[in-house]
Amino acid sequence: MSHHLICPHCHHHVPRGVHICRECHAEIEYGTPPTLILLVLMAATFVGIEVSALTALPWLGIVAAAGVIGGLCAWFARLFRNRVVFNRIYRML
Ligand SMILES: [Zn+2]
Repeated sequence: MSHHLICPHCHHHVPRGVHICRECHAEIEYGTPPTLILLVLMAATFVGIEVSALTALPWLGIVAAAGVIGGLCAWFARLFRNRVVFNRIYRML
């Protein structure tokens, strides 16, 4: 894996791990997309409520929700290990 990324907006080399392109100020995002993290939380809430209702054991719902969060986050972290997205905010001058 390369230590440098090339910004698709300004074509400058950007060191991996940096969150802002020094040249064009594009924001650089790594790993799991934030919207997916939100979906994981929603899924965990749903599973937690369902498990609590079905078993009548609220603590089991919490354990199930924590399991969903832990499992999906670990899976997504592996899936999006190499994901890098450059978000350039174009401002009107
Ligand atoms: Zn750039």
